[in-house]
Amino acid sequence: MPVVPAREILDRAFAERYGVAAINIVDDLTLEAVLAAATNLQAPLIVQTSLKTVKSIGARPLYAMWRARADEVPVPVTLHLDHCPDREWISTCLRTGWNMVLFDGSELDIAENTRQTIDVVAEADGYGAQVEGEIESVVGVEDGIGSEEGGMVHPVEVSARFIEATGVYSFAPAIGTAHGLYKSSPHLMPERVTELVETHPIPMVLHGGTGLSEEQFTDLIARGCAKVNISTALKIAFVEAHRDYLEANPGKHDPPAMLAHVRAAVKEMAERHIRIFGSAGKAAPTTSTVS
Ligand SMILES: [Zn+2]
Repeated sequence: MPVVPAREILDRAFAERYGVAAINIVDDLTLEAVLAAATNLQAPLIVQTSLKTVKSIGARPLYAMWRARADEVPVPVTLHLDHCPDREWISTCLRTGWNMVLFDGSELDIAENTRQTIDVVAEADGYGAQVEGEIESVVGVEDGIGSEEGGMVHPVEVSARFIEATGVYSFAPAIGTAHGLYKSSPHLMPERVTELVETHPIPMVLHGGTGLSEEQFTDLIARGCAKVNISTALKIAFVEAHRDYLEANPGKHDPPAMLAHVRAAVKEMAERHIRIFGSAGKAAPTTSTVS
């Protein structure tokens, strides 16, 4: 089973109100570890790449690595391009085979963002791919994109009009979460998710989840956040596992042992989130696959 269109994973998650982990991988080890976590828990999974990761590995090598791994797993999986303000890279990834893209036009004014998102939706349609839209930048820098400044939050009606005008498949509303680690407990605006879903029942996307409590996750998922992005938590698990191993084994030079330790930490992090989000056991047989 294999790679399926993103909508196939998210339509059901949204209808049944569970969350699908959308995990930003950074290399082959993290890719393999998160796929192993989803397989172990019989969960659907979205693998994400930041634009920075695509640029550093290259779209074609990264995609080849993805397919080589993903085609072997027994659960439905799909590939998403996270925050991408660059239309050229959106086109490159769609052409290469990514199943879903986040066109991040949050730096543009809404009229221009709307106009460009309409183009991206049309382009993605040609590949059977889905588009996530965003008009408010998520606070915090993630892989070189975004800013530490609090972004502008528009009235819900503005987001609703954007969704309607563009036909985006999913939407990332500003709800008070931030990329990176929280310095103090965030003030969330979960009612924005409910209000948007009531007027436009499409999957909402939760960004900046690292550091939220289990209750905050499950509440937002119940309101319609079907895609839950995980980026910072993977970076922490990945880097700290290297550090732990090296501190515990100062004289050792055994890469496979170190990498096995890192893989276990990343897999555990992914499994923990999949369980909280309620998608364990939801890997139903699928009807269509992506060639
Ligand atoms: Zn994000």
